[in-house]
Amino acid sequence: MTDFSTFSLDEKLLQAISEQGYETPTPVQQQAIPPLLKGRDVLGVAQTGTGKTAAFALPILQIMSRDRVQGRRVIRALVLSPTRELAAQIDERFAAYGTHLDLRHRVIFGGVSQHPQVTALRRGIDILVATPGRLLDLINQGHIDISKVEFFVLDEADRMLDMGFIHDIKRVLRLLPEKRQNLLFSATMPKSIADLAGSFLKDAVMIDVSPEEIMVGRIEQKIMFIRKADKRRLLVQLIEEEQVERALIFTRTKHGANRLVKQLGQSGIDAVAIHGNKSQGARTKALAGFKNGSIPILVATDLASRGIDVEGITHVFNYDLPNEPESYVHRIGRTARAGKSGVAYAFCDDTESGYLVGIQKLIGQSIPVDEEHPYHFSSAIPKPGQKPGKIKDGKGGGQGARRGHHAGRGKGGNSGQGGPRRQYRGGGQQGGQYRAGDQQGGQYRGGGQQGGQYRGGDQQGGQYRGGDQQGGRGEQGEGRGDSRPHGNSSTGKSRRRRHRRN
Ligand code: AMP
Repeated sequence: MTDFSTFSLDEKLLQAISEQGYETPTPVQQQAIPPLLKGRDVLGVAQTGTGKTAAFALPILQIMSRDRVQGRRVIRALVLSPTRELAAQIDERFAAYGTHLDLRHRVIFGGVSQHPQVTALRRGIDILVATPGRLLDLINQGHIDISKVEFFVLDEADRMLDMGFIHDIKRVLRLLPEKRQNLLFSATMPKSIADLAGSFLKDAVMIDVSPEEIMVGRIEQKIMFIRKADKRRLLVQLIEEEQVERALIFTRTKHGANRLVKQLGQSGIDAVAIHGNKSQGARTKALAGFKNGSIPILVATDLASRGIDVEGITHVFNYDLPNEPESYVHRIGRTARAGKSGVAYAFCDDTESGYLVGIQKLIGQSIPVDEEHPYHFSSAIPKPGQKPGKIKDGKGGGQGARRGHHAGRGKGGNSGQGGPRRQYRGGGQQGGQYRAGDQQGGQYRGGGQQGGQYRGGDQQGGQYRGGDQQGGRGEQGEGRGDSRPHGNSSTGKSRRRRHRRN
């Protein structure tokens, strides 16, 4: 088995790694570190939770500490992150891995005073972790110069595009020097990301880590079919019955998160919501309270949950099923961190069965059904042959979501289906994002990807799982909103109308 010493990293880095308690590199680290140390660009399909931060931070720290520039510090590494939470977390990782090195790092993001950030920048830093908006603000004000950047990391690129950051990214790219090493990480690889990657990565090594195989294994999953109106009662019952020490509850919308917090409060359960409408102060406080145990239950939307890396989450509740299958994997991966096990419950009402089909197709398994709970509602069970609730083939996304809804709702009262079937496993993927069958075997999606090369511009030829990120996000937007994919709000609205009717 590989250990970190095989990468010939600096002793000071190895010491920091050992202080973190890491013994074995994760798959993304095994694949990314060697080419990065050789100066290659890397395109990584991996999401938070796979160890990807160390996969890029360790080689960057290694090369930067080896080739220290004399004189005043200049920004030599720039990491762009879509959310403040993730940015803060990446910066913490740089602090941990670089603790024995003489390299200065700093995180900057919006929603807080720029003053301390500017002061730190004036003192000189080597590594900057930033969200795009604040980065451009401070560049425009003349506080940041990125013309000496040697390493550019675009993290969670798919979220970046979802959040409308594409123009900001392009602006940043124009300001970077021609000669640099590029890294792009994304949990998914729709065509829009492949195009973006092709626009600035050069002869990149492509690595692909299947997150579901890594994370899903240790998590006890259960699906509960239920009427929408009964979800709250079941949630309260589970929280009271089970020894819920630290739980993350996911709703699809910010409004839904606020409402649920209020309703839980009425049942005597303390919870706090975390989403993009909350101020940065409120988000930081909620996260800190969740980490230190004073807030046992956090109700989050998907975007806000990005980067929540809190140990000891015993339960994840999918109060609403996500309309993107990848979000399910990401959500439940918040539990079972650092070798621990965890429980992930998912509530599925009769408008959500299509989403469940998509999720089970993605993870390549049927989630065990709990029919014993008092609110079991068999009409919410997917019908045989039901299509996934959302199909990521660009324009078809919203349509797919709607089809799923109808299929889920149409034949109400059809009982005794016996739960999701194996037939959903690896069927025809309808242009979906994941190649059927690949996920079932080994830990990696697709064989032989180690040597897999990615050449900018080639990517349209079917090398990537196609599909575009558009459609069906409803009111989730937490980004800048200047270039959000069209058609979303109408899907969101129609979904809200449907829910109101229920
Ligand atoms: P990331 O995907 O970078 O957010 O990392 C997810 C979690 O895995 C973080 O809590 C890291 O501290 C942890 N981690 C990263 N690399 C390793 C490793 N090789 N062994 C054990 N834990 C790790």
